[in-house]
Amino acid sequence: MSRLCVFCGSSPGRRAEYRDAARALGRLLAQRGIGLVYGGGGGGLMGVLAEAVLEGGGEAIGVIPHALEKRELAHRGLTELRVVDSMHERKALMASLADGFVALPGGAGTLEEICEVWTWGLLGVHRKPCGIINTAGYYTPLLEFIDRMVAEEFLAPGYRDMLVVAPDAASLLDRFDSYRHPAVEGWITRETT
Ligand code: AMP
Repeated sequence: MSRLCVFCGSSPGRRAEYRDAARALGRLLAQRGIGLVYGGGGGGLMGVLAEAVLEGGGEAIGVIPHALEKRELAHRGLTELRVVDSMHERKALMASLADGFVALPGGAGTLEEICEVWTWGLLGVHRKPCGIINTAGYYTPLLEFIDRMVAEEFLAPGYRDMLVVAPDAASLLDRFDSYRHPAVEGWITRETT
């Protein structure tokens, strides 16, 4: 894995554990020589994460649309800041730059981003691992809801396992190292969507 795309809150959240988890992931990426691709923000968990990567001597690439960059929400000290025209362009670029996707705690934006790349994996648009760091059990209600999707037969059991869940950054990255994307029936490509 040479680059990991991380989705996380533009807010810091209520608990210190969330900031600690963002810092721990950032440090670990720098230590393991894995570059960070993320939303480019300077605040919230995004800012904590990027700072930890940079302090550890790692590479941090932000991908941000003009609209957010103009509102001065971008981090100014990144290795590289890619400014794009739209949210759609941003997601496509983040996805193409990274070899895997992780969500730390976050809000609606984070949820939308991780669900989209997980869905792309289910459809066979990419074969990259997607995962959630379940800091302080933040995502447990979502994971229970995903189990409900399976129980109610809206999601095949094998597809649930395409979302790797781990309690911390180190165990998640270890699981990513051994990840094998399962065969998906009726694969589609980006060109056919
Ligand atoms: P949220 O979880 O709702 O705070 O949204 C965070 C996610 O949405 C991040 O992973 C970013 O990709 C994107 N995002 C939301 N707000 C910003 C911002 N101010 N600057 C950069 N990216 C943002």
